[in-house]
Amino acid sequence: MNSLNRTVLKERRVVELPNPEPTDSGWYLASGPELPLVPQKGDTVCDCLVIGGGWMGLHAARRFAELNPDASVILVDAGRIGNNASGRCMGFVIDLAHNPRKQDFVEDIKGNKEELFVNLDGIAYIRSAIEDHGVDCDWDPQGKYHSAATAHGVEDLRRFSEALDVLGQRYSWTEREEIRAITGSRHYIKAIHHPGTILVQPAKYMKSATKRLPANVTVHENTPITAVQFGTPKHVCETLTGTIRASKVIICASGYLTKFGFFENRAIPLYTFASMTRQLTERELSLVGNKEAYGLIPANSFGTTVRRTSDNRLFLRNVYAYARDFKTTAKDVERARIQQQVAFERRWPELSHIGFEASWGGLLTLAQNGGMVFGELGENVYGAAFCNGTGVARGAAFGKAVAEVAAGLSSPVIEILKGRAQPSRPYPRLITAMGVRLVTALRFKQAGAEV
Ligand SMILES: Cc1cc2nc3c(=O)[nH]c(=O)nc-3n(C[C@H](O)[C@H](O)[C@H](O)COP(=O)(O)OP(=O)(O)OC[C@H]3O[C@@H](n4cnc5c(N)ncnc54)[C@H](O)[C@@H]3O)c2cc1C
Repeated sequence: MNSLNRTVLKERRVVELPNPEPTDSGWYLASGPELPLVPQKGDTVCDCLVIGGGWMGLHAARRFAELNPDASVILVDAGRIGNNASGRCMGFVIDLAHNPRKQDFVEDIKGNKEELFVNLDGIAYIRSAIEDHGVDCDWDPQGKYHSAATAHGVEDLRRFSEALDVLGQRYSWTEREEIRAITGSRHYIKAIHHPGTILVQPAKYMKSATKRLPANVTVHENTPITAVQFGTPKHVCETLTGTIRASKVIICASGYLTKFGFFENRAIPLYTFASMTRQLTERELSLVGNKEAYGLIPANSFGTTVRRTSDNRLFLRNVYAYARDFKTTAKDVERARIQQQVAFERRWPELSHIGFEASWGGLLTLAQNGGMVFGELGENVYGAAFCNGTGVARGAAFGKAVAEVAAGLSSPVIEILKGRAQPSRPYPRLITAMGVRLVTALRFKQAGAEV
């Protein structure tokens, strides 16, 4: 159970900062003009400081400001909003995450129903940003295809369909000819279409939603919190060029939440990588199927995820790598790009010579037990973090809910999240690193042509 972790450090603590990414994401490069950059300076006072501008932090800031229109809210991010993991993702706003290989996925009906309930709340909140506030993100509610390229992939899909049956979910099988017509690729042999997921351009969403935050939110990018001293009446948070004194702090800094003194050493930092082509020409588009945009999730979770984007690019993600010290290098990105090129050739051999315009990685924070951080961490300190792999819909739901907790509210979503396991302590770092490296290498190999 999620009991409060009230051990707040009272003394000043220097915060270890996020590592800059070696490359920009293709989504970010294609997302239009940069937001005006206003790093924080001098001594600032506010009612609520939100640290981290990802799916969690952005929605926490929005919600807290909506609920407290007279309060001053500051949202800071160490880097550029939209070029973080949130803007680097595949852009599947997933209602029901899946793990058909996990034995209890089919059996855990209560857990799956709660997960769906939480994610639908996140999706509704994201949708309201589009419908009520005019946020621009190439919103496409077409659902997702779970695709198989091998017999064992088809078996994984069959298990997934059983879970969907148990949950009373609608879905349809897409046979070989149809999935080939949709994608133009002879690689796939079967798929399941599951409605409910929305496809978005995540960097566009992050930037546009930042611009449309309520008027009582001030945003400071390139503003890492470098040190904190939690206390009353104000928490003191230092930046590179000033200080922010806040009555409440909400930490949505992904795995870096651990650097603020909470759940220390409990984050398992994992990177996954993606590559995107340039915009395809008319002739090239004729090779990638008859559907203008789509998203394919591999039957095997170590396979390759694919999107054809609404601005006519192909976009492939695969490879997981343990990220020692939360860090990735240009070499890691290049190694992954080579795997993405292999996956491109398998799927579209007539097109793959065009290669990729951009390749990048992004941080996922996992816990040994799949636990997540949520709720009150100390007096007037709150947190939401650890996406465990999927964090778009879930991130929006967590962010919205943690702001509601900070505002003293309750809700069915909050009750579910409070009941979830907290991140457990992993094995010692060396063993975890070796274990993750071994398992990811093995699972990648086993995934075979699903990659
Ligand atoms: C390639 C890739 C594809 C993915 N695809 C999907 C997908 O399709 N669907 C899905 O649901 N999930 C997907 N994910 C996972 C998803 O991106 C993450 O779960 C999600 O972005 C996590 O959001 P967050 O807000 O918790 O963290 P982040 O986006 O990491 O945001 C945390 C922010 O905190 C800031 N920060 C950290 N420390 C400090 C500090 N000291 N001071 C100030 N700011 C700080 C960081 O700069 C960062 O911007 C994908 C991830 C990757 C990498």
